[in-house]
This record gives sequence, structure tokens and C-alpha cells, in this order.
Amino acid sequence: MRIHTIFALLAAFLFISACFPAQPVVDAPPSTEPVFLTLPVTDTSIAPLETETPQPTNTPRPALERAKYTLNAAVDYDAHTVTVDQTILYPNQTGNQLNTLVLAVTPNLWAGSFTLSSLVIDGETVTTYSLDGQRLDVSLASFLPAGGVTEIKLQYTLALPFAEQEDPGISRPRIYGYTSRQINLVNWYPFVVPNINGEWILHDPWYYGEHLVYDAADYEVNLKFSDPASVPVVASSGIPEALPDGSTRYTIESARTFALAASRDFQVASTVVGDVTLTSYYFPFNERGGQAALQASAQALQVFSSRYGPYPHKSLSIVMGDFNDGMEYSAFFYLSRDFYNLYDGTPANHLIAIAAHETAHQWWFEQVASDQALQPWLDEALSTYSERIYYENTSPDILSGWWWPYRIDFYEPQGFIDIPVYEGQGFVPYWATVYFNGAYFFEDLRERIGDEAFFAFIQDYLNQGRGRIVTANDFFRILRTHTGATDISDLVNQYFRSVYQ
Ligand SMILES: [Zn+2]
Repeated sequence: MRIHTIFALLAAFLFISACFPAQPVVDAPPSTEPVFLTLPVTDTSIAPLETETPQPTNTPRPALERAKYTLNAAVDYDAHTVTVDQTILYPNQTGNQLNTLVLAVTPNLWAGSFTLSSLVIDGETVTTYSLDGQRLDVSLASFLPAGGVTEIKLQYTLALPFAEQEDPGISRPRIYGYTSRQINLVNWYPFVVPNINGEWILHDPWYYGEHLVYDAADYEVNLKFSDPASVPVVASSGIPEALPDGSTRYTIESARTFALAASRDFQVASTVVGDVTLTSYYFPFNERGGQAALQASAQALQVFSSRYGPYPHKSLSIVMGDFNDGMEYSAFFYLSRDFYNLYDGTPANHLIAIAAHETAHQWWFEQVASDQALQPWLDEALSTYSERIYYENTSPDILSGWWWPYRIDFYEPQGFIDIPVYEGQGFVPYWATVYFNGAYFFEDLRERIGDEAFFAFIQDYLNQGRGRIVTANDFFRILRTHTGATDISDLVNQYFRSVYQ
């Protein structure tokens, strides 16, 4: 009994699943007080659109398939500051002309963390913008026609928050910032949020789960450290290339976001799967876990490439996070230090299961994106179910011996899985519903339609969704083409509160 209680506590507070902050466990809404930035301009209001008649841009740039982000970042590792010179080439793929842009600036959720010194659009300094919390609204001097490209230049400084410090004024995320042995640059630069059906998609942050939605974009990050004699080891989303001036250029194409972690303590191990180099970054005394996470990710990459479709990038960084969290980014994910510390050398372990889970997000997040705040089951349920697919292909005994009883059933999965993150009722109930009951939906669906139809559907869903932001309607539209005469309406009624035709 006592052992069970201890296990329950450990399971609830240490063996957290991927993509959750472990703390705080609270249900209250985030502060409604926006963190205002002192703007270096006198007029921060958005220009009234009705009273001005912007003229169409005369010299549209050539069409771009995706936005291109170029970030020149100078990092003072010891001062925990980053000075950034950023250029965004943003193609208007909305199908409509635009007269405003909305950028997410999540560092501005921390008071004093983000200082904007310059904003220039198509060569003109912009003064008509507002920055309220994480949202930067910009009015364009000229309409951006459908298919046109605009150039946004920003200069700003980040003062990284201390991520280990409890700060009740800040809800989340808890990853961005620095710890005693690591800096973590995640969602660290302003990016243009998706515009879907005329609406800019930027949801409120929440205590657990994720709230950002990303278009795919190309990234070039030029990184320079202020102290060349003591440059830390860098893990990132990109492929590094040393430049003559001592800086390093990292590039990745068609990625959702660019993440970067740096530490002077990182140990490094690599392996190659096909044309993909996987690299594990871990702290000293965690060699065994660092190697195990690397091997599990390499196995998972092979399994998912074979069952779903190809991995799109040439690198994958597996990064030990100096915090109680696991999280996916493009070609990059964190595994919590607790998973390493509690790794027992067997596959029946959260380090291995979550390594497979986060690797699966390179398909269900990175390739097929979705609205993480409003329809989190789309990527989380499928990434959790991907753990099952990983184990059945690598060590099937683990499924009945550990994965179903301890990873899934222990939390008593229940409830409609298509809830927004805001209705999760705390992170453990949210997890039990979206992740674990979500895994049961996929298990029941697969059993109902059979392996052949199930994997044909998954592959079709990947092919149709790759590079896009899909919805539950897309999911069911594609699924219906693979169910044949099999009736799944009872499963849809059992697991979903919305009606999907
Ligand atoms: Zn996840």
C-alpha cells in the first residue's frame, strides 16, 4: 500500500508525460493583466483602417512558398541576454489582401524580458503598432496583396528569465530562460501567426499543454557568443555550419519553429539513421540515460518512417532539459532530467516511452500541425498512441507488462478527447483524457478497421496534412475514405463530443 502510494506520487509529479509543465498544478485561469512593454514610440495605437486608404504595393516580390526567418543572434551566455537582428520575409498565402499582421512575441509574457528597439517594414520604420502581452499588432502602410511578400525587420534584446525561480506572476511556459547550467531559447523570436479564414490564430497561454499554432517556415539562425573563449555546446533545430568570423549558422527548411539550448556542461552522443543524424545532449553523470534516449529515438525514427512516412529533416536533437518538462519542437525535443535520473535500464520506463512520444511529434506536430490549444488531441493522442506502435515493433512484451497498465490505465482514461486545453481541469485529468483516452480511441479505431486500413489512413493523413495545419474535420474527412463499409459512428460518439460527419 505504501509503495503504491509512493508510486502514485512519483507518477503524478515526476513521471510527467511529454509536453506538460509539471508545475504548477492549478486550475485557475492565467492572469488577465497583460504585461505592457514600454514602447520606444509615442503613438502605439493601430492606425484606424477605415479612415486611411492604403495603396497596393507597386513592387511585389517574387512569390515565396513559405516565410523565411533570418535571425542574427548575439548571446551573452553569462549575462543571459540575447541581442537579435531579425528579418522575416512573409508571403501572403491567405488568399486575401492584408492590411495588418499579428506576430506572437512570447518572451514579452515575462516583464522586462523583451525590449524592441526597431521595427521596419518594407524599408519604412513602423510606429503604428501595439504590443500587448504576447501579441504584436502591426498595421501595414500598404495593402499586402494575396501572393505578395513583405519584409519585416526587427531589432530587440532578450533578458532571459531565470526558469528555476517560482514567479506567480508568470503562468507558463517554464522552459524559456536559463537555469544554473543551461539556456533554453524556445518560442524566443517574434513570428507571424497563422491566418486561417481571415482570423489570426494566437490563443492565450495556459498552465499545461501548448497554445501556439505555427505555419511552416524556413530558418537561418546566425549565432555568436560574446565570449569566444568559453562557447557552450549548442543543441538546435538546425544543421550547423561554422562561419569564418567564429559564429555558427544553423539552417532548417519547412519547420514549425526554431529551438535552441546551450550549456557548457552538455555531453554529446550521436548516431545515424539513413541520412539523419541524431544527437543526444545530456548532463554529466547521465551517460546511460543519454545513450538510451538516443537509441530509443533512433529506433522510433525507423519505426515511424516505416509505418507513417519519411522524417523530413537531416538532424534530430534529443536534449536533456534542466526542468520538469518534456516538449517537442522542430527537429528537437526535450526530455526531463527526471526521466534520466529515474531511468532503470529497461524499455519499461518513461525515458524510453517519452523519447518515442517526442519523436512521434516530428510527424504529428512538425509535419502535420494542428491547433494545439483548441484541438490538442490531434497531435497528442496520436503521439501517445505512437508509443504503442514503437513498443510493438521493438519490445512488444512491454505493452501488456508495463505500457497499458502503468503508462495508460493507471490514470483511469476517460472523457471526450476533443476538449480544448482550457477545459482540461488540471494537467493530470487533461492528460488522462486527451492523451490516454485518446490512445484508446486510436486502439479501438485500429481494431475496428484493421491494420491495413488503419495504416493506409495514417499515411494518407500524413501525405495530405504535411506542411499544413489540419483540423478534426480534415482528420475525419480523410478517415472516412479508409473505413469502407465499416461503421465507426459508435466510436465517434463514445470519444468525441463534437459531431463529425
Ligand atoms: Zn506530446
